[in-house]
Amino acid sequence: MTRVDLANGPSTDNENIHIWRLRPSSGMVVAGPRTEDCSACEDRHGLVMDNTHIRVRDFEHIVFFTGAGLSAESGVPTYRGQGGIWKEYDYERYACQAAFDRDPEAVWEFHNFRRELVGKCTYNAAHKWIARCQASLPDVAIVSQNIDGMHQLAGATRVHELHGSLWKTRCDGCGARTDDRDAPFDNLRCRTCSLRYMRADIVWFGDSLDERVIAQAVSAIEKCDLLISIGTSGVVYPAAQMPLYAKQTGATLVEVNPEPTVVSQVFDVQLRMTATQALDLLCEGVE
Ligand SMILES: [Zn+2]
Repeated sequence: MTRVDLANGPSTDNENIHIWRLRPSSGMVVAGPRTEDCSACEDRHGLVMDNTHIRVRDFEHIVFFTGAGLSAESGVPTYRGQGGIWKEYDYERYACQAAFDRDPEAVWEFHNFRRELVGKCTYNAAHKWIARCQASLPDVAIVSQNIDGMHQLAGATRVHELHGSLWKTRCDGCGARTDDRDAPFDNLRCRTCSLRYMRADIVWFGDSLDERVIAQAVSAIEKCDLLISIGTSGVVYPAAQMPLYAKQTGATLVEVNPEPTVVSQVFDVQLRMTATQALDLLCEGVE
């Protein structure tokens, strides 16, 4: 297992201007674009380091743990926060089992609206980096809270989708499934049993996560030596606690998010930058 010596990384000054700020009390390192603050930071800690000395190619078992912030650069609408979709649409009417039982066509209208919105977006450079890592490094797992399918669009082949997928449907009567990128999806009645409506294979409000997916994700996380969390808010449970499994086994944890999150303290390294900026650094040298 690779161990990264956070306190003794390279200390070259770099025009690319991201600065490591060591907090001696916590052993934590924070990096971000240079700001006015940074001169004060350098003065205080007397420490200027290169962008980052962590490179994915130096690790054996890597997990990319991804959330909405990864797809923000693709223009995929977010669900929470400023302009979040749940501010406009009441999930109790459109995204829970009770709503589906009551009025499946209204729920499908909403999901088709989402399919159309997301269908106009495409993957970004960060998704592409992750797919390239998976193709060229021996053990790269992707655990995603996103339902937008952007990882696969970028070429990733194995994605543990904790919250399901906007592009998959299932029949809870006979177990039939579909996987396509139709927008709109108009095969609403199950073609296998013709008894039920297909439902979006998404974890709706009030649903449990798929235990099989969770088990696979946890298994990957527990054996990783590097976990890179990208664009997750850390407020959606149980996904939010998953990086802790890696922490417990001694992996190096990197958080990529422009803003601090409620779980930032858990991470050894925090990169305060966009997903693309961070992966340009972290994935350097990957084919
Ligand atoms: Zn069926």
